[in-house]
Amino acid sequence: MSAVSLSDMTAERVAKRRESGLYRRLRTVERTDSDDPNRLRIDGKDCVAFCGNDYLSLRTHPVVIDACKRGAEAFGVGSGASQLISGHTAEHRRLEEELADFLGRPRVVLFSSGYLANLGAVGTLMDRHDTVFEDRLNHASLLDAARLSGARLKRYRHRDAGALAERLAGTARGKRLVASDGVFSMDGDIARLPELAKQCARHDAWLMVDDAHGFGVLGSGGRGTVEHFGLAASDVPVLMVTFGKALGSAGAAVAGAADLIDMLIQHARTCIYTTALPPPVVAAARAALAIVRDDPAPRQCLHANVARFRAAASQNSLPVCDSETPIQPLLIGDNRRTARIGDFLIEHGYWVGAIRPPTVPDGTARLRITLSSAHRPEQIDGLIDTLGRAFAAVPE
Ligand SMILES: *Cc1c(COP(=O)(O)O)cnc(C)c1O
Repeated sequence: MSAVSLSDMTAERVAKRRESGLYRRLRTVERTDSDDPNRLRIDGKDCVAFCGNDYLSLRTHPVVIDACKRGAEAFGVGSGASQLISGHTAEHRRLEEELADFLGRPRVVLFSSGYLANLGAVGTLMDRHDTVFEDRLNHASLLDAARLSGARLKRYRHRDAGALAERLAGTARGKRLVASDGVFSMDGDIARLPELAKQCARHDAWLMVDDAHGFGVLGSGGRGTVEHFGLAASDVPVLMVTFGKALGSAGAAVAGAADLIDMLIQHARTCIYTTALPPPVVAAARAALAIVRDDPAPRQCLHANVARFRAAASQNSLPVCDSETPIQPLLIGDNRRTARIGDFLIEHGYWVGAIRPPTVPDGTARLRITLSSAHRPEQIDGLIDTLGRAFAAVPE
């Protein structure tokens, strides 16, 4: 017997969200300007977006779009089946080979999203006899992956390898996996991978890095956080990268030793029991990867824009954080004030993420500003100016 009506339950939960200033609503992008990927029309209003993860502006790159069209013409729009049935096309195979080569790993396996890749990798490596160690600020998909695996989850203080070492030392039984974001998605700071790798070596643990925001962006060749620190593949034996951010496409891959990848193909349920990535999406990811590999210019524009934003934000006493990546949060704290500043910015032509709990810890609501290679100097200056007015217009 159910005592709770569905409509009462839903109304109550949504009302609670509203009361606490945490209500979320979908905004619809009605148009993207054909020659400026950051100029969007949302809900009838034109604005410059500083909230996406298309860091290299590849989602609208003509070469990437052309590859996408040709992928559809060659293999159809959908893959038609899972990878282990008939969904693994020559486009998938070539992307795997090119990615393994680019990352300097023996092999990769594709997943339909980063979320699924994390669930599949952690769930295959770990079971209820094991322990997963995670940074407190890891992406939700890594936390969910540990929970779903049935392993014990131990979280350690953000970027604190000493705290990790204590937890590792206090855990005797089973296999141990340390999983960390490479670049933290809401903070923009970079995990201390050399220290994590050292602790993993000392305590017989495996290190897995989710490099969704480092891939294509960090390292002199755009290979991500592992290249940024000059680490060897053996330091980070399990590497997850996604195609939805800097590659401007969709999907993900896990890269590693040939046996590891073969095991994932055998056992990762999120790889086996889902339709393979659409061939046009894979073709687009290949074209984007070739640009990342062959042309440092978009990455250089991106880093110049990050520097311009940071210099101007500091000069204007905006609450910048310690981040050298394209993710530049401005910490506010109060949920309602964050939402109202976000609304003010949209009214004045700028779209930034107004991020509140549970995406970030209580009391750390923030504006999440992201830079791309295509932002123009006057757009960055305009955002800084409007941010100053927004902070003044919405008092604490
Ligand atoms: C975006 C993101 C994911 C999820 O990737 P999708 O391909 O969007 O599912 C996983 N981890 C991190 C750190 C992310 O930022």
